[in-house]
Amino acid sequence: MHPSNLTIALAGNPNSGKTTIFNNITGTRQKVGNWPGVTVAKKEGRIHKYGYDLKIIDLPGTYSLTPFSIEEIVARNYILDERPDVVVDIIDASNLERSLYLATQLRELDCKVLFVLNMADLARTRGTKIDGDKLSQLLDVPVVFTVGNKNEGIEVLLKQAIKLAETDIKTPKKRHVNYSKDIENAIIRLQQFIEEKTDGTTPYNTRWTSIKLLEDDKIIKERILKSANDFGLEILQTTQALRKHLEQRFDDDPQIVMTDERYGFIAGIIKEIQTTSTKQRVDVSRNIDLVLTNRFLGFPIFLFFIWAMFQLTFTLGTYPMDWIDAGVGWVSVTLDGLLPDSLVKALLLDGIIAGVGSVIVFLPNILILFFCIALFEDTGYMSRSAFLMDKIMHLIGLHGKSFIPMLMGFGCNVPAIMATRTLESEKDRILTILITPFMSCSAKLPVYIILAGAFFGIRAGTVIFAIYLLGIILSIITGRLFRSTLLRGADAPFVMELPPYRVPMLKSLLIHMWDRSKLFLKKMGKVILIGSIIIWALSAFPRNVSYSIDYDSKINRVITSYTAQLDAADESTKPQIEKEKDAELFAVEKARQAEHAEKSFIGRIGKISAPLFAPLGIDWRGGVALLTGFVAKEIVVSTLGVLHAVGVEDTSEALASALHAAGMTPLSALSMMVFVLLYLPCLASIAAIRRETGSYKWMSFSIAYSTTVAWIMAFIVYQGGKLLGYS
Ligand code: GDP
Ligand code: MG
Repeated sequence: MHPSNLTIALAGNPNSGKTTIFNNITGTRQKVGNWPGVTVAKKEGRIHKYGYDLKIIDLPGTYSLTPFSIEEIVARNYILDERPDVVVDIIDASNLERSLYLATQLRELDCKVLFVLNMADLARTRGTKIDGDKLSQLLDVPVVFTVGNKNEGIEVLLKQAIKLAETDIKTPKKRHVNYSKDIENAIIRLQQFIEEKTDGTTPYNTRWTSIKLLEDDKIIKERILKSANDFGLEILQTTQALRKHLEQRFDDDPQIVMTDERYGFIAGIIKEIQTTSTKQRVDVSRNIDLVLTNRFLGFPIFLFFIWAMFQLTFTLGTYPMDWIDAGVGWVSVTLDGLLPDSLVKALLLDGIIAGVGSVIVFLPNILILFFCIALFEDTGYMSRSAFLMDKIMHLIGLHGKSFIPMLMGFGCNVPAIMATRTLESEKDRILTILITPFMSCSAKLPVYIILAGAFFGIRAGTVIFAIYLLGIILSIITGRLFRSTLLRGADAPFVMELPPYRVPMLKSLLIHMWDRSKLFLKKMGKVILIGSIIIWALSAFPRNVSYSIDYDSKINRVITSYTAQLDAADESTKPQIEKEKDAELFAVEKARQAEHAEKSFIGRIGKISAPLFAPLGIDWRGGVALLTGFVAKEIVVSTLGVLHAVGVEDTSEALASALHAAGMTPLSALSMMVFVLLYLPCLASIAAIRRETGSYKWMSFSIAYSTTVAWIMAFIVYQGGKLLGYS
């Protein structure tokens, strides 16, 4: 009789090939989500193989099981609490020393572990030979070799995992790390004390529990207090006494001593099992790094790559973007012709299709951007860029790794906020999320182009550049401010890992790209859909407003007067007169729409909120446009168009003169641009912030903070400018 359901968890260092192996095993049968309560991606797949239903879990990549980062806590809790049947430790064979730290920690825990020496090919080309049998003997674990990206050894891996799950090992054999005498004594004393007191009712293996307690592991301390409630306190007191004793003995924190000893143990294992041939190949990665992380060349090369990424994203992206735009336009024109005028039609065309269309057009950009980022990640260049930017980012109180999300923010904040997942420390992540919206995203550019173009003439480019710069400066100030107040504290201890360069696998690039884009489409599509329906409804209702003039009869008057003219005119002047007639009718229609917008709910909201915007030199129409910009920043322009009775067709110049006519000045235009740059992120970004911080609190904070900063800055610009005599 064997259990037909098995759970196999894949653990391992980041970049050891876990996801590659996971994809090999599960193919397309995967479910991607988050670990409960935290924003660490969780991948799960189910397959049926060798008569078993296998559930495969891709645990977050970690270097240890010491609960420093969210990833480590998630991975460890999963192993401790969910008790998978087998834990498969994917070890980067070309980087044995680093990988074995996690491996020995897994060995100490009483779970069934299978060691997988992946990247066996890399190890070989470097002239390193690893004695798998010896490793298996030394640590008493089964060992298999794989080459993840060539799908080699995966079957053996699965068979061994199943075999291990089937074997009945009650007490883990004693092949664990041997600590020095004093520490061993302390472990044994604590272990005995725990066993006496609790009668074996501690949640985990007692040796492991004792080790963790001596290392002052907060999570385990809490659990002991909870589970062994009568004796919990006594156990912790005994622990304290033993720790104190060790501390005096070693003149150092026991945790540090134990970590050192574990590394010593690992060094010993490596001596036993690894032989490096004398004619070691030249290390390709090191040579590439001589150029790419060179003190002088590194930075320009990096800038070039980033520039190329944006070029690719926005240049190449415009072609499919235009197609999609045309497609959406075609759908809406076709439906316009097919459907009879009704409220449903208006909802469908002006609300749903216009709204969702405005998101879908960004899909090509998003796909390309994510593809480039996956390429950077999979080749190993991403870590180099973080390395290069590290010094500069410390100005903001962040590590080099935060640079990538911030950079992506210039494209679109949503993927940028999602990219903060790569940051280890939660504080770094939240700080990065809070400052990313100040990176002026591409959707704000149309607003600047219209306003700067209308009011600053040839200096428009400089003005727009200054706006971007202002965003960057405010993000630096914000970073420093929060780092020293709200998000103070130790940066997570952080070693800049430089994994070897690898030739990326197309399949893995595509999966990476698609995973992220799918999330973008799913969540953001939903938000935008609802948002645009709301904005549409606010501007479409109430349906029947009382107009100040009778537009219908005005239209009739225009038609009659032109009919008379047309009758009188000769053939040569007729087309000219027709044109004038159309233009006049169009103007009347626009005036009607503008008045309707003014008297709709959103117009009323605009009038009510006008006093808020008045000190910034922004009139009620500007205010409404800013409010609708909440859904997506591009909408600011189209709302201005509607409210100033300018058709979308004749765009910028007409809108510019309408804005002039409505009393907007260069100063108030500048103030409005500053406000657009800084004020609350769009709905999709807000949804992303909520998801990635996992809290409504940070979401609300981000909204309140950015909007307050926007108001204050716009106020300073407008009132300050007036004081200085500008208008
Ligand atoms: P994870 O961070 O552990 O999930 O690692 P990934 O699965 O994303 O793999 C990181 C990189 O290593 C990818 O570019 C893979 O194509 C590559 N890779 C995975 N397994 C092997 C292997 O056995 N040999 C070599 N040379 N590359 C591998
Ligand atoms: Mg992975």
